[in-house]
Amino acid sequence: MASIGFVGLGNMGAPMARNLIKAGHAVAAFDIMPAAIEAVPGARHAASAADAATGADFVITMLPASTHVRDAWLGAGGMAKAARADATLIDCSTIDVTTAREVAAAAGRPFLDAPVSGGVMGAEAGTLTFMVGGPADAFAKIKPILEAMGRTIVHCGEAGAGQAAKLCNNMILAATMTVTCEAFVLAEKLGLSHQALFDVASKSSAQSWALTTYCPVPGPVPASPANRDYKPGFSAALMLKDLGLAQTSAKDVGASTPLGAHALDLFRRFVEHGGAGKDFSGIIAMLREGKA
Ligand code: NAD
Repeated sequence: MASIGFVGLGNMGAPMARNLIKAGHAVAAFDIMPAAIEAVPGARHAASAADAATGADFVITMLPASTHVRDAWLGAGGMAKAARADATLIDCSTIDVTTAREVAAAAGRPFLDAPVSGGVMGAEAGTLTFMVGGPADAFAKIKPILEAMGRTIVHCGEAGAGQAAKLCNNMILAATMTVTCEAFVLAEKLGLSHQALFDVASKSSAQSWALTTYCPVPGPVPASPANRDYKPGFSAALMLKDLGLAQTSAKDVGASTPLGAHALDLFRRFVEHGGAGKDFSGIIAMLREGKA
């Protein structure tokens, strides 16, 4: 059993912290919204982020964006300083690669970026995928902790590599989902049924996760968000955030990502026109209306 400080108990953090407690760990929890801590029964209510970090073997953040992560670890009352010299620090938020590397370099203790995929359902079920960047010896230490919250734990490389994997993965997903939506809309106009396109594409060279697990039209995959009016799932707002981070990173390193840039533009327009709270596969409605 380890003692763990956990900061950021929102949609993802609260179920992750609950799974740590279920696995027998002692959790000290902090969130700027006091009500959020109530969602983690059995946790010690820490008075501040620094208090949650004090004395813990492992300290975890699950915060909205880069600025929150930098402030929480390195700002006034920073958690990195408050943590024990031999503590291992983990940020599970999705942030840009440069910030992840800067915070890791400044933390003064082993610091790993460990963003996740799997969404709220994966966080609840303890089946998240963790993409981890940081030193190999620190990765070996945190793996059993992450296993209480996830099923697939991948060491991607040094600091920032976890964030890089997450951004690249989601850029592929956004482009794949968008073109899958376009194909279903084209099929509709050509008089080809959704099921017929699915039956062919899911068994041929167009096969993908976006098609076979998350099919953007109702019917072929009963569990996909298309069957529940595109209730997320993975919201278009979060996809927009990740595409923005991917473009920031691409610019930083001079990578050419024209499809990623186009996907960012499409999701920005979808979000601006009321799609923020919809599942990202709901972008099919905008394509169907010819607004893309
Ligand atoms: P959320 O907004 O539900 O939760 C964030 C929590 O952090 C909130 O409870 C907020 O009060 C708290 N917080 C903000 N600033 C704080 C501070 N300085 N100190 C302490 N607490 C603070 O967000 P979420 O959906 O849980 O997402 C968290 C991270 O996980 C994000 O980086 C997101 O991109 C990533 N992510 C989310 C999903 C998803 O499906 N929701 C999936 C994968 C990754």
